[in-house]
Amino acid sequence: MSNEDSLPSRRTLSLRFNIAISKTKEFWAALREGKLITTKCTSCGKVTFPPQADCPNCMSSGHEWIDLGTDAVLVTFTNVQITPTSFVNHDPYIVGIGRLADGPNVLAWVEGATVEQLRPGDRLRLEARVSPEGNPYYVFVKN
Ligand SMILES: [Zn+2]
Repeated sequence: MSNEDSLPSRRTLSLRFNIAISKTKEFWAALREGKLITTKCTSCGKVTFPPQADCPNCMSSGHEWIDLGTDAVLVTFTNVQITPTSFVNHDPYIVGIGRLADGPNVLAWVEGATVEQLRPGDRLRLEARVSPEGNPYYVFVKN
């Protein structure tokens, strides 16, 4: 379509969608009960987080559920001042990557400390929560 064949228009579209979780529903059910679990490939032993039913390392679909553990060490973090559209009703927040004691790195919001109080190497605890809308989620809390 050439410019002569159209009139410009602009509007904001709102997008609402459901995220498919059928292969990882055990994770969400456990999280709702305050437990953190993840997948471990039964072929190659790779532990993934977020949980993945299909192994990104060897493509096997065989997996078992293991305890993720809650103790972590802060690797890096950032302070989000300009919030994305999905979090427009939230105050600025801190997002960090924590390395779990016996698992992979986890990306999550960090609570219980200001940016000035955080340093790489700080000890964190991964906690399960349920949002006011009823959705389970997880955050890091500084010990
Ligand atoms: Zn594997």
